[in-house]
Amino acid sequence: MEWYDQEEDIPTPPRSRLYNLPLIGNGTTYVESLRSYILRLAEAHGMSVLDLIRNEIQPSTVIKMIPRKLGGINQITAAYVDILEKATTNPFLHLSSLLPWANKIASSQISRQTRAWCPLCFQSWKDNNQTIYEPLIWQLTPSSICLRHQIPLESTCPICKSSSDAKSKAMNGHCWKCGTWLGRPPQPIPRTQALDLAVVEMHQNLEQFLSIQPGSVPENSLRNTIEHVSKLLTKGNKAELARRLGIRVGRFASLSEGTTLPHLMELLKICQLFNINPEDLFFTPCEKWVNTQDFKEIAVASEESGQRRYVSKDEARRYLESIVNDKNNFLSLTQISKNLGVHSITLKKNFPELTTIITQKRLYRIHKAKKPKGKRRKINWPQIAEELVQMLNDGDITESVRAIGTRLNFPFPGLMREYPQIHEEITKRYALYREKERKRLFDEKANNIRKTVMELRSQNLQPTLKLVQERVGQTLSIDLIKVWRRAVQTDLNENF
Ligand SMILES: [Zn+2]
Ligand SMILES: [Zn+2]
Repeated sequence: MEWYDQEEDIPTPPRSRLYNLPLIGNGTTYVESLRSYILRLAEAHGMSVLDLIRNEIQPSTVIKMIPRKLGGINQITAAYVDILEKATTNPFLHLSSLLPWANKIASSQISRQTRAWCPLCFQSWKDNNQTIYEPLIWQLTPSSICLRHQIPLESTCPICKSSSDAKSKAMNGHCWKCGTWLGRPPQPIPRTQALDLAVVEMHQNLEQFLSIQPGSVPENSLRNTIEHVSKLLTKGNKAELARRLGIRVGRFASLSEGTTLPHLMELLKICQLFNINPEDLFFTPCEKWVNTQDFKEIAVASEESGQRRYVSKDEARRYLESIVNDKNNFLSLTQISKNLGVHSITLKKNFPELTTIITQKRLYRIHKAKKPKGKRRKINWPQIAEELVQMLNDGDITESVRAIGTRLNFPFPGLMREYPQIHEEITKRYALYREKERKRLFDEKANNIRKTVMELRSQNLQPTLKLVQERVGQTLSIDLIKVWRRAVQTDLNENF
């Protein structure tokens, strides 16, 4: 083989032993799983997946299926990734697993026991001639629904009822036992099957978790946070906090001592209890999202920790307005909230319009900076403007400018340049819609809690927090616990 290259003067790119297939959804929350990648790789080489593994990855005759643990944080995943990254020269394959989270989250309880999929996702990729693959998120323990299609994930084949392991003929989108195509067109969903809101919120947090760069999360960050939170709330009495999180006291103690790493599910529980998302959990100091006052009301008394700076609402508004009006100021909301000493969630609640404009403005700048030169698509702005005005007249704006841009096929930062007023109006109306939706969801949950309390009473059961949580199927956030308390008290008064 040597002589062939020696005759060539032109340097050839390094050849890979296996095809360098791109990883689907690289850099997104829907990044492809390692298992899915291996199945596609085998297909591309016209090999069975077991032959690929035995010939190229793990020479052994005892391998009868793809290892189940693939995609988690473990040695076999690390070994597969290492071999495949070399053989394909694709340097991104580690992102098809949770390996980059090693030493930040626990390596156990990451992967589901069985394969799970969204039949509508499969079908829509097929209908749009897109590659059929299985995203990593479907493989994770907390995953049980598809947020895009708002349906539960499926895990048994509709024909053979099997949920078997990936054997020789395994293909993405097909049953691994009988080969049946697992996609199907959407069907009307009966109202009784509406998704639990707590589960939806948890999946939104899971999606966000997957968009975080693990490298930017400081090691021990969570341990420090837990330590800090329990000090802030209960003078270091961790038992109370553990109970509220539904984590065993002993385990919780080792989490805050740093002798154990948190499970992915535990991270999501903490987010739910405090009504925050993973980004807040990792990067926002907990003083900003722990409401000491609220916790005190229902739990152990604790001392107010000092050193908080208070800013009046007017002051905050003036500051935000000054940033909106300053052409060259592209501060992030996180930075702004640091400067003000006010949590970004509080800012968003109080100033939905201003904060949205600030975020958009920043996105616009970043987008512009990244845009490659040359090749400009011609866009019919007047026509788009007409369509947008029509949308504004028709009613609620339920999508961001970015989402509308994707749907109507225009670059969303361009709208700010071409029609700043339309841009502002959509942004404003969308922020209003989101706020309204947030309130609606909260009311819905609150009603459910009141109803449950009444039901329990009518069954002669004590509506304890534990029982109510069990019945509504979620751990209540602080605001909802307040609703529960009020319901219990009102109910008592009526009975006397
Ligand atoms: Zn789906
Ligand atoms: Zn089947």
